[in-house]
Amino acid sequence: MTSIERQSAPKRIGRRDPAFLTLEWQDGVVSTIPASAIRKACPCAHCVDERTGRPILDPATVMDGLEQREVHLVGHYALGITFADGHRTGIFSWTLLRSVANRVSEGA
Ligand SMILES: [Zn+2]
Repeated sequence: MTSIERQSAPKRIGRRDPAFLTLEWQDGVVSTIPASAIRKACPCAHCVDERTGRPILDPATVMDGLEQREVHLVGHYALGITFADGHRTGIFSWTLLRSVANRVSEGA
């Protein structure tokens, strides 16, 4: 194992609104992330070229307000999410979700 800093699991996972995922992190920060932003950051082999790391998914094809249908824990390190567009192969690590959350909160 390398010494990559890893985001620890959130204290609480909320999804009262299916278009958003709410994560309360151990440091007290609460992130409300649009499901569409998570979908655009999907790291699976259908969305990112495994060899080059280049994006395959065109973010313009992800509609705003996209909902998540099902969310489940993958081990202790990630969430598996099924989106309303049928996409369900993405595994979203806490580290990835935290970076998406930071990007969203910066308005980028
Ligand atoms: Zn994907």
